[in-house]
Amino acid sequence: MKYIITALAILFITGITYAQDIDTAHWPFPVQRLIKAYPDNISSFDGTNIIMKDGRTVQYNEGGHKTHQQLINSNDIGDIFTYPYIKGKVKDIEKGYDPGRIRSEELLRKMYGSTSAEVQNDLVTISWCPKLVGQKLKVTKINGVAKQLQKVSDELDEHPELRDYLYSSETFNWRKVRGSGRLSAHSFGIAIDLNTKYSNYWQWDCRCTSEDTDLGYKNRIPQLIVDIFEKHGFIWGGKWYHYDTMHFEYRPELLIK
Ligand SMILES: [Zn+2]
Repeated sequence: MKYIITALAILFITGITYAQDIDTAHWPFPVQRLIKAYPDNISSFDGTNIIMKDGRTVQYNEGGHKTHQQLINSNDIGDIFTYPYIKGKVKDIEKGYDPGRIRSEELLRKMYGSTSAEVQNDLVTISWCPKLVGQKLKVTKINGVAKQLQKVSDELDEHPELRDYLYSSETFNWRKVRGSGRLSAHSFGIAIDLNTKYSNYWQWDCRCTSEDTDLGYKNRIPQLIVDIFEKHGFIWGGKWYHYDTMHFEYRPELLIK
């Protein structure tokens, strides 16, 4: 009997140790955020790799000291959170502060598709602001993006004063970011651009593509639009030093606590 109790005690203690080993609180902060943000796609972490629900993996690389140009081109999951994204109104954006402009293309390709055709397989059509605008837009259904964008639309549609801003100029488009070799968030069906007539884009204003250029911030998009998008998991390109004020993309990992 004594042996059985001892054996049970050892099993119990081992069980606790094991439970502590998989305690998510010890996982790197970016991994925890990603698992919380994309529960349909990312399930676990083995200490080296993020494990996806279908068993595929994405290697986790610590963020490290990099120049701005290196960060923008980085594929390291540890770099995604270098510039924290602040919800609500922001002003005086520091040079180079681009929260959300750093993406892991590998992770995006594995979640949403790695070719145009693969991404298109999961696109669905939503009815965008039916009362005010009435456009049909194609976005991915993966990670609930289409559902979230429909919620944004439902709220915006109650604000006739915003009508002129809301015409969308682009959603899905398998393309590179202008002036770069990186795929745009539009390639994955997770982004929407609003009316270019009210948009400011750093490259149009400076007539340049160099990330080092000193820019003068410009924006005409009302804060209410930004607040509604952020509420449903979309970040705004107007919070980037390299501003793109028409641009919103589904990046809940930057918005959740
Ligand atoms: Zn865009």
